[in-house]
Amino acid sequence: AYVIAEPCIDVMDRACVEECPVDCIYEGGRSLYIHPDECVDCGACEPVCPVEAIFYEDDVPGEWNDYVADNGRFFEEA
Ligand code: SF4
Repeated sequence: AYVIAEPCIDVMDRACVEECPVDCIYEGGRSLYIHPDECVDCGACEPVCPVEAIFYEDDVPGEWNDYVADNGRFFEEA
């Protein structure tokens, strides 16, 4: 799945939401989150993010690795 990392916090531009063909990007209090089981790995969201917050899970920069788990955890609590 694709993952939304730290740059999204308090930005939430939502350009990615418009692009996602399966509507799997959801809004939290301070960030958007991608549902890991619903994402079809199409990659459409990644280039439209103005703050480059979106990465394929294997390509998340090291300092933001926690966001891979965070995106999943958001949906467990929901
Ligand atoms: Fe949606 Fe595709 Fe981005 Fe996954 S990779 S969140 S399916 S736009």
